[in-house]
Parts: sequence; structure tokens; C-alpha cells
Amino acid sequence: MQFTIKTIPILPWGMLNAFLVTGPGGAILVDTGLPGSERAIAGALKAEGLVWRDVKLIILTHGHIDHAGSAANIRSLTGAPVLYHASETPYCLGEKLILRPTRFFGQLFRLTGAIERPFPPVSADILMERRIFDLATLGLDGTVLHTPGHTPGSVSLLLPSGDVLAGDLAASGILLGGIALRGRPERPPFEEDPRTAAGSLEELLSRGAVRFHLGHGGPLGDYAIAQHVGRLKQC
Ligand SMILES: [Zn+2]
Ligand SMILES: [Zn+2]
Repeated sequence: MQFTIKTIPILPWGMLNAFLVTGPGGAILVDTGLPGSERAIAGALKAEGLVWRDVKLIILTHGHIDHAGSAANIRSLTGAPVLYHASETPYCLGEKLILRPTRFFGQLFRLTGAIERPFPPVSADILMERRIFDLATLGLDGTVLHTPGHTPGSVSLLLPSGDVLAGDLAASGILLGGIALRGRPERPPFEEDPRTAAGSLEELLSRGAVRFHLGHGGPLGDYAIAQHVGRLKQC
């Protein structure tokens, strides 16, 4: 089974990533970036020789503006169903966020109001209500797992190759993520429940995840993630 995982740079230097996963059943878009990310995503599709209609599924790892901001528009362009977890519905529909800054940058970033800006709300075509959703039901490969911690309804896409697209369950780099020190795991600027995030990362490791592709910074290997889990448990 061959997969290609292409990072779509929504912002430069790994500060903000979406991903295009191409496998036997077609292409999956994991996250959609900030509002206005259509051009960046179209460029990634073109580089793979694909067009909008080749996207068979849009997975939102969670409902923050930097991941779900273009989802409603991208659904119109692709005609693909949007999948997210039921616990993420309030955020995807634009309800007020719970923001727990993990460090000073998060506090500063919250003051800018950027993360709380409204974006076009997006409903789910496939509302995940259980812990696991096997993409075989859609003719695609991979498993979507409920991996809460960053937000209550965060999900990760685990591929048979051991690659996992884990959204903001962890991050690496400085400030928002990316830029420098990208091999060093970090908590994302906001994290609702670090111990729950630790449990979710452990579950991914136990299911064979070896490469973690992240929304901010990354990718990180399983060893770095295991170390990060140890630190999260001290929070
Ligand atoms: Zn987030
Ligand atoms: Zn994010």
C-alpha cells in the first residue's frame, strides 16, 4: 500500500501545515488552514497532478480557525464530505473557544484575537461519534482516532505506514511552532487538557505510530513523542 503525504505550507517555515494524503482510494485533505487558504491547497493539488474533485474526504483534526478556517469553501470546491468528531461541533460551528495558553506566547497570541476571529462555520457530513472510524467504509485506507487533549474533539489520521497526522496534539519549534528547533517537541500555544493529550499520544504510539505530522512544526518521531508524553504527565 503506497501513500504519499505532502505538507501544504499554509504559513512558511512550518508555522502552519495542512496535509494532502494520496493513497490507493484517492486523496484526503487533512485540515484546511486559515480562511483564504484555497490558493495554497490548489497549488498542492496541482503539484500532485490532481484537481479539486480528486479530493475524496476532508478531515478536520479540530475546529480552530487555523485548521477549519477554509473548510466550508473547500467542501464547495471539492464536493468532498467533511469529517470531524461530534465533540468538536461547537468549535466548527463557531461557538466561543476555551483557550488555555500553555506559555507566554499563547497568552500574547490570545491578546491579538487572531484565534477567536469568526470564520465560515462548517457542518459535518460525517460526524464521528465513536473512538474509531475506519476509512475502509469510504473505500480509503487509514483509521481516524479520537485523540482529545488539545481540544475535546481532536482526531488523528493513522495510516498503515505508521504515519499519523495528529493536528495540534503536539507541536515543535518556537512561538506558534516551526521556524527553529523543529526537532524539539513542544506543547501547542493552547492546550485544553495536557494529561488527556498525553493519553492520546500514548494510544497512537501503542497503535504503531512512528512519524507524527503536526499542524505546527514537526514531523516528530516516536521517541521524541514518548519523551513529550513524559513531560505532559508532569503538568
Ligand atoms: Zn489548535
Ligand atoms: Zn493549530
